[in-house]
Amino acid sequence: MSARSTAHPSASAPTAGSGPLRIVVVGAGAAGSLVVFHIARLVAAGSAGNSNTAGNSNTAGSGGDRPSVDVTVVDPLDPVSGPAFGTADAAHLLNVPASGMSVVPGERFDFVTWCVDEGLTSPDDATYFFAPRNRWARYLRTRLDEARAATGDRLRVTHVRSTATGISVDASGVRVTTADGSAVVGDRLVLATGLPGVGDGWSPCD
Ligand SMILES: Cc1cc2nc3c(=O)[nH]c(=O)nc-3n(C[C@H](O)[C@H](O)[C@H](O)COP(=O)(O)OP(=O)(O)OC[C@H]3O[C@@H](n4cnc5c(N)ncnc54)[C@H](O)[C@@H]3O)c2cc1C
Repeated sequence: MSARSTAHPSASAPTAGSGPLRIVVVGAGAAGSLVVFHIARLVAAGSAGNSNTAGNSNTAGSGGDRPSVDVTVVDPLDPVSGPAFGTADAAHLLNVPASGMSVVPGERFDFVTWCVDEGLTSPDDATYFFAPRNRWARYLRTRLDEARAATGDRLRVTHVRSTATGISVDASGVRVTTADGSAVVGDRLVLATGLPGVGDGWSPCD
């Protein structure tokens, strides 16, 4: 862990009793993007951003012209561009059928319908259709954009394109240092950095 003192331009000092709830998400892959998607849905529904670490009320919808939740995503890559879904090759298919890849709670066939609407498959074949991985990435990014749009100005999302190199946690919140020498501070931290590289350590060579 390193300790840098330069705050990233998108970050602010710990709010100490005022401002939106600040959530730092390290990793913009499938998991990190889904976290932001669900935060957006909660904010849009008025059930997120209730209080920050200092206990002040920031209930979504009550913040006037201030966002109720301020999310900073830290990742050098674009959203949903990790090893599984970053491929541009349409021959790389999901290993789960479309009926198992919906991101919308309670709408199991949302991705099935999306595939049909996109002309990727026919309604008869859609349930057990194995879509290209990059199409699912586009689907998630589309649903994420829609969810964010539904929050109006109550959710702000900032993408810091750098690698997190250190994390510290204290009573004032969390502090994530990055490879570009800056830091992001927040009230809550989500680690969504995916699996470590498989590598070849399991099969040592002579
Ligand atoms: C080849 C392959 C195929 C797969 N196929 C499927 C499938 O068909 N269906 C399925 O459901 N699952 C599949 N998976 C599993 C898949 O990995 C997970 O579903 C999903 O990608 C996990 O999402 P994640 O966000 O945890 O990880 P990732 O998608 O890997 O994202 C991790 C993100 O964290 C970022 N990151 C890492 N370290 C840092 C750091 N220090 N600072 C900032 N950012 C960082 C990375 O840049 C990356 O963007 C597959 C996995 C692989 C490897």
